[in-house]
Amino acid sequence: MRFIIVALERFFEIGMLKNSKKGFKIGLAVACCLVLVVALALGVPKLLKTDSIEALPSTPTEPASNEAAEPVDSGDTSIPLNDSQADVPLDFSEAAKKYFDKIDSKYSERSFDTEKHDPCLEWIQKELMKAGYDESNLTVDEFHVGNKIGKNLLLKIEGADPTKQIIVGAHYDGFGATDNGSGIALLLATACGLVNKKPDVNVVCAFFDAEEIGDKMLGSKHYVECMTKEDIANTLFMINIDSIAAGDYCNIYGGVTQGETVVRTEGYELAMNRAEQLGFHVYRTADLDGYYQEHEAGPEVEARAFYTNPWTLEHPTPDRNVEYLSPSTGDWSDHAPFMSIIPYIYFEATNWYVAQYEGECDTDNEEAGINGQIMSTDYDNMIYIEERFPGRVMAHFQLYSPLLSSLMLHPYE
Ligand SMILES: [Zn+2]
Repeated sequence: MRFIIVALERFFEIGMLKNSKKGFKIGLAVACCLVLVVALALGVPKLLKTDSIEALPSTPTEPASNEAAEPVDSGDTSIPLNDSQADVPLDFSEAAKKYFDKIDSKYSERSFDTEKHDPCLEWIQKELMKAGYDESNLTVDEFHVGNKIGKNLLLKIEGADPTKQIIVGAHYDGFGATDNGSGIALLLATACGLVNKKPDVNVVCAFFDAEEIGDKMLGSKHYVECMTKEDIANTLFMINIDSIAAGDYCNIYGGVTQGETVVRTEGYELAMNRAEQLGFHVYRTADLDGYYQEHEAGPEVEARAFYTNPWTLEHPTPDRNVEYLSPSTGDWSDHAPFMSIIPYIYFEATNWYVAQYEGECDTDNEEAGINGQIMSTDYDNMIYIEERFPGRVMAHFQLYSPLLSSLMLHPYE
């Protein structure tokens, strides 16, 4: 206001002094400029302020994950995302991708008993604490590996019903971006993203050690050995995340092959149903049964779709292996120690239609990796995967992340 008065005084002063048309015009111009400056000074920041308030989501703030981006809620950010709006899927894919890149650049070799193994574990722990968890949530559970010590990192997120739990595991030992930098990245991003949420039941996030040692899954085996009968009875299911970045098909497995049938498929069915509810296309056993025999190839990979092991008793692998029928899978990852006692869900991206037809090849692109195999090779790094399959890593996180968040928050059908 004071500026306007000064401007007017100045206007009349100039006009009177010069007492001419020219003087009047100059005075008017000076006054107008001053009024404009005042208007800008007072009005524009106010306008900007109003805009920025409106642009901010009215959601509870997601935890800062520092080096990784803050988790991004999918959909309209102006929609409040809280427990009363449980149906809105939470997508932490951007944070997962940043963690993935970080693991690839800094901890690509983190095999048991190597130099970066412990620093990688400490980094995961630090990220969880930065997100808001503390010692009361975190445990480092040690076990013997020969004369060395293995370390599982366990994060407990308290649920509304603390008498029930689910377990979500990803092994952090080993080397390579997809196996299992991708699993660590997704689990870490999701755990950090859910720090202020209350899942329906307790969630144990397990960063397992020593999975790769002779394919023996020592960390998850140790975890299962420590479970009481009560723990087992109170666990709804276990989710295993291992190698989701590079493979052609985003698969979901579950169940145990017993003779000619598959039992304990509850986890798989829940995950497929939930994926469908979230708007993803799902290809279940029945949808894939016999496709390969008819077409001598797998179906074209669809974006935003989940698949599973395609082999059934009626339509087994070309070499007629019926050891693990759809939707189950082999016992080569951390779901294995759980599978005889608890329903499991296993996220893995791979291709079941090539080589030995057991999914150990990531892709039917034989030029990629070593005859299509990327995991467990020197090609398992972010630059190579991104060059060969631009956008694939992020696309896979965008598929698995909302599903994982949804299952972690709401484990009942
Ligand atoms: Zn693995």
